[in-house]
Amino acid sequence: MDGIVERHSAGLDELEKVARHDLARLNYPPANWVPEKTGADGKPVLDVLIVGAGMCGQTAGWGLLREGIRNIRVIERNSHGHEGPWNTTARMPTLRSPKHLTGPDLGVPSLTFRAWYEAQHGADGWEKLYKIARLDWLSYLLWVRKVVDLKVENGVSLLKVEAAGNFLQASLSTGETLLVRKLILANGRDGSGGFRWPSFPSFDPEDPSREGRVFHTLEEIDFAKLKGKRLGILGVLATAIDNACTALEAGAAEAICYARRPHLPQVNKSKGVSFPGFQRGQGMLDDDWRWKIYTYMLAAGSPPPHESVLRAQRLPGFAFRFAEPWLDMIVEKNGVTVKTTKGTERFDAVLLGTGFDIDLARRLELGSFAANATLWGDRRTPAEATANAEAARYPYLGPAFELIEKVPGRTPHMGDIHLFNWGSILSHGALAGDIPGLFVGSTRLVQSISHALFREDVETHVENMYAQEDPELAPTDYFVPRERRSGTL
Ligand SMILES: Cc1cc2nc3c(=O)[nH]c(=O)nc-3n(C[C@H](O)[C@H](O)[C@H](O)COP(=O)(O)OP(=O)(O)OC[C@H]3O[C@@H](n4cnc5c(N)ncnc54)[C@H](O)[C@@H]3O)c2cc1C
Repeated sequence: MDGIVERHSAGLDELEKVARHDLARLNYPPANWVPEKTGADGKPVLDVLIVGAGMCGQTAGWGLLREGIRNIRVIERNSHGHEGPWNTTARMPTLRSPKHLTGPDLGVPSLTFRAWYEAQHGADGWEKLYKIARLDWLSYLLWVRKVVDLKVENGVSLLKVEAAGNFLQASLSTGETLLVRKLILANGRDGSGGFRWPSFPSFDPEDPSREGRVFHTLEEIDFAKLKGKRLGILGVLATAIDNACTALEAGAAEAICYARRPHLPQVNKSKGVSFPGFQRGQGMLDDDWRWKIYTYMLAAGSPPPHESVLRAQRLPGFAFRFAEPWLDMIVEKNGVTVKTTKGTERFDAVLLGTGFDIDLARRLELGSFAANATLWGDRRTPAEATANAEAARYPYLGPAFELIEKVPGRTPHMGDIHLFNWGSILSHGALAGDIPGLFVGSTRLVQSISHALFREDVETHVENMYAQEDPELAPTDYFVPRERRSGTL
């Protein structure tokens, strides 16, 4: 983990001035238009609580401010500079994505990554840049957050959400409970489930004896402790390979990546669908199309970036073993024995590059909501759901990324919970996870929340419209006080 993520330079200071001026030209931030609400206890109600200040949470937060929805709070369980994977569990030198991607800027040119980079390295530097360095991306996100004045409460977690009268009630790790109208769960790739653990007869991920010997590749790992060790790695995709490389670079003796498949997946399908038509249109398709697209995507897998494979190829001690699935894993005092379809291996430690699972039941903060949330499996035939068990576990979300009740009326206010995380891909496409879809996703989310808040308060808004006074003509000879007007307002 690197503590130094903020960058300072004269160029950046200058860009900040330009960006703030651009925002002022856009009349940012506009006034809050959402009427205040109070709970039964007389305390003010929060309009939107955003959980998670990674890329998606901060972009949603900024989008809401820009929309004039300003009674919001953004909480983040990690400390400042440790939001998301970039400075915690990501182990690749550069992003996979091409450098030109936009999204966190929400369309403001001086807030793009390119502007941020050019301010420090000039146009030449931009031309020479191959891909975005991992920590540069984090520094850039934090810079955008600062310039748009989005306040984040670091070190605060959401523990539980439940219905409370007309609102949701959120319980925070600080002991605070607050009433909220809308909750956005921007809590990351595992935000709709958790780590995926392989199922082996002799392995229990909850057993503390795994400590120091069995790691999930998305956990924080002290690689210095793996120096001189022989490592077995389950998985051959990006994260597995980057973890193998990081271990070897930290002095591990051997790192062997195993796959069930006979070779690496070859085509990154998400790259081919990364254009506005697909991004905007996929969530508007009927269920058959959406199911067809994402069951295919999930099965296709995605190759590791060639940069990761080249990094691995250069390291002595690295090897792939294809077509050799693991059958069992036995954690012992000084290592781990792995039984594969081809033999038995002994490792000092193993790393499981098995990714994330979608399973709302694992999200403790969702409590009783999870059991009544409609899943894609509920919308397909039993045969389809069984044949595509992973896809079937994805939540079936509405157009505002909101959860939908399976049994209507059983869990009031479920529809006020918006899942702006990886769990939304079957319903909306990759709009709340990867960088390319972020602009479309955050815009859709913000607009939908804006519609909903307006609709819920339409009576107040119309009353205000009736009561509105605006002495436009007061400076002229033709001003008529309200009580003397006739025929026209
Ligand atoms: C290793 C890795 C490399 C990636 N590389 C790329 C890439 O090159 N290009 C690309 O487009 N995408 C990439 N992605 C995918 C995606 O861009 C990232 O996962 C990105 O971080 C997603 O942003 P997010 O805001 O959804 O989640 P995150 O950035 O993970 O943010 C979620 C935040 O929520 C917080 N949180 C979780 N639960 C709570 C709670 N209960 N209370 C308070 N806070 C909470 C977390 O601490 C976290 O900071 C990569 C992902 C990984 C894991």
